[in-house]
Amino acid sequence: MKDKFKPESLMMSYGYKPELSEGAIKCPIFQTSTFVFKTAEEGKAFFEVAYGLRKKEQDEELGLIYSRINNPNLEILENRLSLWDKADDTAVFESGMSAISTVMLEFLKPGDLILYSSPSYGGTDHFIHDFLKRIGVSAVAFHAEDTEEEIMELIKKTGKADRLGLVYVETPANPTNAIFDIEMCNRIAAKHKNGENKSYVCVDNTYMGPVWSSPLEMGADLVVYSATKFIGGHSDLIAGAVMGNSELMTRVKTLRTFLGNMVSPHTAWLMLRSLETLKIRMDRQSQNAQLVANFLNQHDKIEKVKYLGLISENSPQYKLYKRQYNAPGAMISLYVKGGEKEAFKFLNNVKLIKLAVSLGSTESLAQHPKTMTHCALEPIEREKMGVTANLVRISIGVEDAEDIISDVSQALDTI
Ligand SMILES: *Cc1c(COP(=O)(O)O)cnc(C)c1O
Repeated sequence: MKDKFKPESLMMSYGYKPELSEGAIKCPIFQTSTFVFKTAEEGKAFFEVAYGLRKKEQDEELGLIYSRINNPNLEILENRLSLWDKADDTAVFESGMSAISTVMLEFLKPGDLILYSSPSYGGTDHFIHDFLKRIGVSAVAFHAEDTEEEIMELIKKTGKADRLGLVYVETPANPTNAIFDIEMCNRIAAKHKNGENKSYVCVDNTYMGPVWSSPLEMGADLVVYSATKFIGGHSDLIAGAVMGNSELMTRVKTLRTFLGNMVSPHTAWLMLRSLETLKIRMDRQSQNAQLVANFLNQHDKIEKVKYLGLISENSPQYKLYKRQYNAPGAMISLYVKGGEKEAFKFLNNVKLIKLAVSLGSTESLAQHPKTMTHCALEPIEREKMGVTANLVRISIGVEDAEDIISDVSQALDTI
């Protein structure tokens, strides 16, 4: 069934057996901490597998033990999420940050180096520069305009080229929509090692996944998500996810068991519900965003609009955009003419669009990166990235496109 149907056709039923839940068509919330074993022998067998004392027999499923290790809501959710990214396995976390920090803790140790794309999500940047630095992990940043040779040189200069643990890339960059080349990151990782081990590539696919981009298919080792955004999609939960091959996911899930940062049964259940409409939500959001971006792009109060769907066919970025993405996405970076005053005027006057951080939700959201999500960045570096006082970031929702356009139009008229 898995190979015959598209993920959107399987989100209502895949991995759930009604006969195990009184015939209920929908998976109930398994709001329970622990599970009763039929016999002591069964309990012993479950633990042997859960703690890696022996490999699973063919067709043996990990038995339910305790909700920090497994729970039906969590397992069904992970099986369904794996379909989108064609991953062997998925681990769901209680936030995007806990997914990201767990990956970094598992694949980096004192003395290692992480290469990461800049700008990266503020929390990720903070974890790299504050926590990882304190435990002796070095970091080096690269930018969208850097060439492969320049990045190789940056790594060499750290003196840690033989300890590259992780190439971490967030693309498109938040909040500028600059795109990074995932295949180039794979090549850079392949030319390095971390001692005896290979250097892994991890992609934060929050902006484009799982519908518009599949980094695992492009050869990345791991994909991470803030599932708070498109996957959850209704601004009513916080969650994260990691995907990859079985070997790497066993490592991620083992660390998760001991950090205890798995998602709760209730949040997992909400996400199961979200996944049923993921494709239609994201399709609509992207269609809406293209229409809104087209409108903004010809408006005389606007200096420029950065949106994937506006990249011109003869620019060098276009090929990369087409290779990595199958739609332009729902995030628009809007530079109004003027500065903070004009940007705030716009933000204070939108009515349908809500003034809030976060993204990927059913309702459209707008915020001011310079003074909000990216306020803690070093000012010169921030200016260089294009996070200027006149930048407004808009996440487009599922509302009627003409209504969104009429809202941005009236807000621009107040400037
Ligand atoms: C929101 C976000 C995160 C952090 O996720 P949380 O769910 O808020 O912990 C990480 N990366 C990106 C790109 C994000 O937008």
